[in-house]
Parts: sequence; structure tokens; C-alpha cells
Amino acid sequence: MSSKQFDKGYEPHEVEQRWYEYWENEQLFAAAEQSSQAAYSIVIPPPNVTGVLHMGHALNNTMQDILCRYRRLRGDNVLWMPGTDHAGIATQNVVEKKLAADGTDRHQLGREKFIEAVWQWREKYGSAIINQLKRLGASCDWQRERFTMDEGLSKAVRTVFVQLYEEGLIYRGNRIINWCHRCHTALADLEVEHEDRDGNLYHIRYPYKDGTGAIVVATTRPETMLGDTAVAVHPDDERYQDVTADAVILPLMNREIPIIKDTYVDRSFGTGGLKVTPAHDPNDFEIGARHDLPSVKVISDNGDMTAEAGRFEGLDRFECRKAVVKALEDEGLLVKIEPYRHSVGHCYRCKTVVEPNLSKQWFVSAKPLAEEAIAAVKSGETKIIPEMWTNTYYDWMNNIRDWCVSRQIWWGHQIPAWTCGDCDQIVVAMEAPPTCPGCSSKNLVQETDVLDTWFSSALWPFSTMGWPDQTPLLKTFYPTSVLVTGFDILFFWVARMMMMGIHFMHDVPFKDVYVHALVRDEEGKKMSKSKGNVIDPLNVIDQYGTDAFRFTLAAFAAQGRDIKMSEKRVDGYRHFINKLWNAARFSLMHLERGYGEIKTQNLSLPDQWILTRLEGVTKDVAEALDGYRFNEAAGALYNFVWHEFCDWYLEAVKPALYDKEGPQAKEATQSVLWRVLHDTLILLHPFIPFVTEEIWHHMPGTNGSIMKADYPEYAAVSRQNQQSVSKMEILMNVITGIRNVRGEMNLAPSLSLQVMVQSEDGQTREIIDTHRDLVINLARLSGLTVKNTGHRPKSSATAVVNNASIFVDLEGIIDFAKEIQRLEKEINKLTGELTKVDKKLANEGFLSKAPAEVIEKVKQKQDVLLEKQQKLQMNLDRIKEAGA
Ligand SMILES: [Zn+2]
Ligand SMILES: [Zn+2]
Repeated sequence: MSSKQFDKGYEPHEVEQRWYEYWENEQLFAAAEQSSQAAYSIVIPPPNVTGVLHMGHALNNTMQDILCRYRRLRGDNVLWMPGTDHAGIATQNVVEKKLAADGTDRHQLGREKFIEAVWQWREKYGSAIINQLKRLGASCDWQRERFTMDEGLSKAVRTVFVQLYEEGLIYRGNRIINWCHRCHTALADLEVEHEDRDGNLYHIRYPYKDGTGAIVVATTRPETMLGDTAVAVHPDDERYQDVTADAVILPLMNREIPIIKDTYVDRSFGTGGLKVTPAHDPNDFEIGARHDLPSVKVISDNGDMTAEAGRFEGLDRFECRKAVVKALEDEGLLVKIEPYRHSVGHCYRCKTVVEPNLSKQWFVSAKPLAEEAIAAVKSGETKIIPEMWTNTYYDWMNNIRDWCVSRQIWWGHQIPAWTCGDCDQIVVAMEAPPTCPGCSSKNLVQETDVLDTWFSSALWPFSTMGWPDQTPLLKTFYPTSVLVTGFDILFFWVARMMMMGIHFMHDVPFKDVYVHALVRDEEGKKMSKSKGNVIDPLNVIDQYGTDAFRFTLAAFAAQGRDIKMSEKRVDGYRHFINKLWNAARFSLMHLERGYGEIKTQNLSLPDQWILTRLEGVTKDVAEALDGYRFNEAAGALYNFVWHEFCDWYLEAVKPALYDKEGPQAKEATQSVLWRVLHDTLILLHPFIPFVTEEIWHHMPGTNGSIMKADYPEYAAVSRQNQQSVSKMEILMNVITGIRNVRGEMNLAPSLSLQVMVQSEDGQTREIIDTHRDLVINLARLSGLTVKNTGHRPKSSATAVVNNASIFVDLEGIIDFAKEIQRLEKEINKLTGELTKVDKKLANEGFLSKAPAEVIEKVKQKQDVLLEKQQKLQMNLDRIKEAGA
């Protein structure tokens, strides 16, 4: 399909929609399960089904799309596997909010009805993010779209759970976990956000049992003292060597608890005495395990105090804190309260203060899995790019703790474990067992907890390809070629995919992991709703078109550096898209058909030069993309298209195209122009797929979609071609030199100039002489003489380039005396303004009182004035010199 009309301006929206539909209808994103072509595969980081496209998605998916489109052009069989994540807590929260608005809640509905409601929600809203990815141009193989809760993936989840359980790598145990009272679920360590808060440190006196004195302990959470089961000191702490008591009386509870010695205690903290609450602190839990201490749980899963808290039972945990402090004060056991800034954990979903709580949960024994995942990166089987993330990965993997995978919510994969109501045996199995294998009872109850969302996404690279079945897709595309991800999910997700992939597939899930930076606002600040600096990618697309947006993302995506995004920048790249559009439109007016082989013997210097540069940029782009240097690839293309192709080449070949150099020259240039435009569109396609497809269909001699084109070949650029580049550079320098003089001397573009070039170098003279028409044409000259170095002509302005001097004849062009007068007057005016600004900036009063941005503005003004003044002064000097 082709729209015959080549409009003057490029209108992205209609074009984008039309071509995206075409690509989908023609199944151009589809991967072949089996193919003789090399396989290239990427699994998408599955966006949450509740997600709305944000800048992070936009960057992440633009990069994946660039790679996929590029690899297709290189002839690979590409699979970009799409899908969404069921996002347990996030989705449950969204649906719960909806229910609340309808005046009901999940408990009223019951588990089954609630899950039905979530599926209904997903049916209705779940493809929003997918449609947004399509607007971004994402070329995923949509036919294969997966969902972490679909049947196949659920089967993979159960298979993994059962196998890990049988291998002893999943266990159920009483452990300290992070508990969110709002979401009423356990959270993994990674799901807790730590934030420094102003709080208090409470120093409490615990009297020795034998009445010989007391030990003072300090805590930020005094209510937990109700659950203390020991006081610990360091075995080498001299302050406690002579203490005779072996126990203290726990205040408020009047319970006797032992004094124990443990090297975990930090002697430099306070008095060196540590209260031990195994049920509400992970470190205390470990001390408790070492010393066989009981755990007393005083805070319930609802966030109020349990019966174990004695007279404080039923109080909310924060109310209880106040009551405990008051009671201690009354009894004279509160030594002091000091302000204390400390880190407080919050639920990453709802921001409630998280409580370390003793709880029966399911855990994955992470250490043995992590060891293999570390080894795979050490051996280079998986490469992390940029390399700086490798150490972060090792650090985290080396210090990994067991992963709490059970969540007390309803939306997710229900844990495939059943408990016998008669003999308490636990059965872990793929399907519900008919009877208890221990006592044959039929009274089996399934675990109500569901699995952490990241448990299913950890299997994503192979579960999406049909595992546990050995599918052709797995055989062709696993391990995947690269994972493109932000560093924020390096541990949540990437590390766990490594562990699971290696364990279950006996091979790494991806050969490369490319970790990209963040998109920030214009000033480099993190985008956040509260700051009001969020840029919505869909708005940007509406306003500037997808291609301009994608090119901006690529152009700024330097490795290891955050992207400062602003609409101004996208607007800048919209000009680039328009420039390309206009250049194509001009070119196509002069192309009559498709041109095949180029006859090299008839080529002009600009033709030879642009072909050589095309080959160079083809190579540069390929190498940059192979190394994930998106910004370098985009930069090379931008420079080539804007400056070399549009500014120089098209200008240089206009006379040939207008048939002023004979039919042979015209035909030769046409064939080169066609080739350069053809290949440039292919090079640009991965970055700006829509406009390139549109122009492609306007081009004579193209067939079908640009997606099916071949990436241009590039060999080492030959010496003869290299000569065309150095020759052209000399000419461009001479022309630029003349243009600079024109600018500096304020000479109108319409003025035809007389120029003399002098050079001692015979070759340089020959090059300029041979291509005098090109120089005359592009520099707008009335005459050009080329000479060996000699006297400087009278009344001329000078520029020096390479080993040549350029003299622009000013005789009769300007009135020297008048021009000198004008410039001097203007310089005086500027100097006056500058003095005022200087004075202001020297004024202490102004500097101390004015807001920073006002001072900054004045400083900017100073810079501008100074630059103007210097320029005018230079012009004046040059005129004086020329007139001399
Ligand atoms: Zn929460
Ligand atoms: Zn049983």
C-alpha cells in the first residue's frame, strides 16, 4: 500500500496508525519457531497489568524495539516475547479500591468471587498498557502474548514449586518477616522501602533480679519490650564482668528474663546492653535461635497488641508505644528520651510502617541457587553491561538471604501445598491429592497463601516459551540474546531469573543483560507525582509524534548516565524528522525510478564522498548497536543525515540534478542519491520506524515493507574512497571559511563575492581548482582564483583553513569608514550595559538578598553581553585590518 501524495509537512498520527496496522496485518513481528536464520530473542520485562505507560517503560521498550528491528534487518529470526504481570498486591489493591467505591469489600465477596472480580477487571482494563506499547511502535510478537497467571505459566509455577520443595530448596518455617498491617501480608526484604525518620531513642532501666542494680537498654520501639525474652551483653564488655545477676526483671511485665552473652552486641552503642525480642526483630530472632530463647509475639498481624502484651492487650501498636512510655515514666524506669534519626521500613505498595513480625511462611533457600548464578556471570556466560553493575550483582548475590515467597493475599498463584486435618502432614503436589498419603484421610486443606509476584516472573524467560514442555520455541530461542532492564529491578527480577533459569534450564536465561539508566526531568530530578514534574509519554507522542520521541530517547541514552528529558528536546528531534521528510521529498522529485548498480566511473567527488560516508555510518551504527551504545548510533545518524546528506550533499549535487552538467552526470548522481536515501532509511528504521516506512513506500524501486529490507553491507572503506573524504573536507573547509567571513562581516547572502585562495601545497591548489564550480556555487562567488602563496590582496578579509589562506575581496563591497564607525558605536553601547551588570554583580547587598535564580539570570546576561562585545570587537579588528 502506498499513499501517492507526498505531503509538504509530515503528519505523524495518521501515518503511525496506518503503518502499525499494516505491520500487524502482514505479521511482520512474527517469529518463526524453526528457521535457518540465526535466532535472536528478547523477553519483555512484563509491565504490571495495572500499569500505565511511563517514561521508564518508554525508554526500556524503545531500546528493545531498536534492537529487534535492527536484528531483523540484519537477517535474524527475531522473537520479542510480550506479556504482562499479574502484579499480586498492586492489582489486588486496585480491585479492592474499586470494590470499596461500590460499597463492598473482598471479605464480603469471599475468595472465589473476589478472584472472579479481578479477572473481570483484567478483561476490561488489562490491555491498556499493551495498546500503549503499540503506540510506541513496539514490534512484539503479539500472537504469543503471555500473562503470568495464564494456564501455561501457572503450570510452570507449580512445577517449579514442587521440584524445589522436593529438593529441599523450599521450606515452611517460623521466621521474622516484614509485615504490612494494611495489606495484611508478608513482604520480601526488597519490598520494604527504608526512609530516614525523626524518632526517639528510649533508654529503659531493667533491674537485676538479685537487686544489685540495673542494666540500661535503648530502643526506638519501646512497645516491643513487652515481648523481650533476654538482655544481651558482649562477652568481652568489661562493664559487665563483675555483674553477679544472671537475670533481670522485665519492667511492666514482671517477667524474669536471662542475661546472655553474644558477640553480636555492639559495645559502642549506649551502655552496651541489648534487649532481645526474637518475635519482632530479625537480628534478635537469630540471637534467640542461638540461645534457645522463646519468642513472644506481642504485636498481632492486625497491628494491635496481643494477649501476650498483658494489660496493653488490644491497643494499637502506636498507642501502645505512648502507654508503655507513660507507664515506664510512672515507675521511674525511663532514664531518658533522646531525639534519634533512624531508618524506618515502609510497605512499597501502601507506605504503611512495616513491622518485623514472627510468622509462619514459605521460603526459598536462596544460597545454593545464588552460587550458580554468580558462577555464570564470573565465567562470562552472562555479561552485564555496563560492567559497573557486575559488582553490585555479586554483592547482592553473596549476601542473599532466604526469600520469603508466601503472601497473605488472594490474587496470585495459590501455593500448591495441602495440610491434612487429621495427621498434620503437608503434601506439596501439582494437583490436589485425593487423600492424605500419611493417614488416607480426605480432610485436606490447601494453603491459602499465594506466591510472591516475583516468583512467577522469575520463570518468565522459559515459562513464556512453553516450559515445562520441551517446545520448539525453547529450543530455538532459549537462552535469550539480551535482557534490557532498569537497575531498579536487578534484584527483584534479574537475579532471580538467573537463579531459576540456570536451575531449571541448565543454561543462563540471557547472554547479555543491558542495564539502562533512569529518565529524569530537565534538571536531572527524579520524576514524581508530588513534584509535579512527570512527563507523560503519551502526551509527548500526541504532541510530537512517536518517531521524534523515540529518537530523543535513543540520542540521550548514554551508558550509565541518566536521561534528562524535556519536551524541548523532543521538539528538537521533531525538526530532525521534518528535515528528513523534506530531504526525501526533494530527492524523490528528482528520482524517476529505482536505480540499481552504481557505475563508479562516472561519479563526481560529492557522489564518491557521500557513498564513502554512508559506508562509514553504516559501520558505526552497527558497531554501536552491537555494543548497546544507542546514543552513539543515533548521534552518527543525526550527523550524517542533517549535516552531510542534507546540508552538503544535496546542495552540492543540485546542479547535476537540475541537468546542468549533462545527462550522464545527472544519471550518475540520481543513482547515488537513490542509493543513499534507500540505505539511510534502513539505517534509521530501528529508531524511527514510522516515517521511514512512509518514505519507503513513496520511493520508486522499493518493494513491500522496509522491515523486510536488508541492512546495507559495509566493508572496510578503501583508500581511494578515503581520498574522496579528505578532498571533500578541504572543499568544505574552504566554503565554510568563506561563509564565516560573510557572517562576521555582516555581508548579505545575496552578495556575490570575489575570492582568492592561496596555498603553497600544489595538491590543495589542484583540488580546489578542479572543483572550483562546487566552491563558487556553494559559497556564492562571482569569481575564484587559486594561487601559490604570495602577497595579501588589498582590502580583503582573511580566513585560514588547512594549508590555505582565503581572501575575500571587500573593495566596493563595504564602506570601510562607515562600517568602522557603526561598529564602534555599537561596542560603546554594549560596554555601557556591561558596566551596569558588572556593578550589580559586585554589589554585596544584591548578592546576599536576591534569589539564586535572579542572580543566575544576571550572570547569564553578563555572558551574553560579553560574547556580543567580543564578536563585534573581532569584526572591527578584521575590518580595520582588511581596509589597511
Ligand atoms: Zn502495605
Ligand atoms: Zn493425614
